[in-house]
Amino acid sequence: MPHGSFSTGESRTVEPLFPYGWTDEIADLFAPHGEAGSVLGRIVRVDRGRCDVVVADGESVAVVHADTGPVADPDPTRMPCTGDWAALSVSAAGTYVQALLPRRTAVIRSSASQRSEGQLLAANVDTVAVAVSLAVEPDLGRIERFLALAWESGAQPLVVLTKADVAEDADRVREEIEQVAPGVDVLVVSAATGEGMDVLAACLNGTSVLVGQSGAGKSTISNALLGRAAMEVQQTRGDGKGRHTTTTRELLPLPGGGVLIDTPGLRGVGMYDAADGLQQVFSEIDALADDCRFRDCEHVSEPGCAVLEAVEDGVLLQRRLDSYRKLLRENRWIAARSDARLRQEQLKNLKQQGKEGWANMMAKRG
Ligand code: ZN
Repeated sequence: MPHGSFSTGESRTVEPLFPYGWTDEIADLFAPHGEAGSVLGRIVRVDRGRCDVVVADGESVAVVHADTGPVADPDPTRMPCTGDWAALSVSAAGTYVQALLPRRTAVIRSSASQRSEGQLLAANVDTVAVAVSLAVEPDLGRIERFLALAWESGAQPLVVLTKADVAEDADRVREEIEQVAPGVDVLVVSAATGEGMDVLAACLNGTSVLVGQSGAGKSTISNALLGRAAMEVQQTRGDGKGRHTTTTRELLPLPGGGVLIDTPGLRGVGMYDAADGLQQVFSEIDALADDCRFRDCEHVSEPGCAVLEAVEDGVLLQRRLDSYRKLLRENRWIAARSDARLRQEQLKNLKQQGKEGWANMMAKRG
């Protein structure tokens, strides 16, 4: 919540940016650019060589970012992205992204393409809400994967159990998911009945994104949060990609405060080098590992392994350890995918370990 008062001229000029997540911190980061004559804006949509940006006079402007610093960066995760705050140069020659303000957080997924690179989906996100449908039995491994991505972004994860109105036993599922989500709140909501929606709205401070597999109820929840009618959504979907109207903005102020980033790219999200994120998802395993005899213990069959002991004692579920190992392997793979030599070595090692099926599958995918 910005606490800039309306008493100074400066606050008055940025007031239209308040609903878009403006804070004093942004003001401080932008200050040197402002002194140099730049205009502050937040990117609400990126489409190839252009961005739509909201600026202090309230309207979004089309901005070209070709030939600017960020575009020359070979790392695609340093390109302008929805949620970025930008210093813009405005002149008769056009409006350009001159610089991006430092990101607090970044949601990155592994790119869907065959090339091995991360794809930046949203910047400066405070909450990553993982939507999970209560209409079907939850896939805990998938939830753990989403949570790893969420933690890795630097944002606070949140699990939103949707479709409570058709759930057989929402409380049981909530308890089960709480077990695999240390440090994460798990909410039960229904857009149909409104159950829990006020709590969810209250949790979404700052900038939020909703992730989750298809069928998790993300669009229904987004629409309910945004107070958007279903008809309007259909029109937005139907009118294609070419138009740049307010309805195609992917960063939208929530009526109760806060901002929701809703981009098509968030619909299917794969983990991208989320080693730190995994440590947080499996923090109890990480804590147990401190007591393993060997520092590099893989918790497979090593003597003096505290993690295996915990499984034996019933303190840790075998499923949880299996999931941890699986995601760790997957993450190592993704992290090394851009390095062909390492990749060959990993394939060799995997084959030696007798995991040929998995390695062949990944080779086909890569
Ligand atoms: Zn161990």
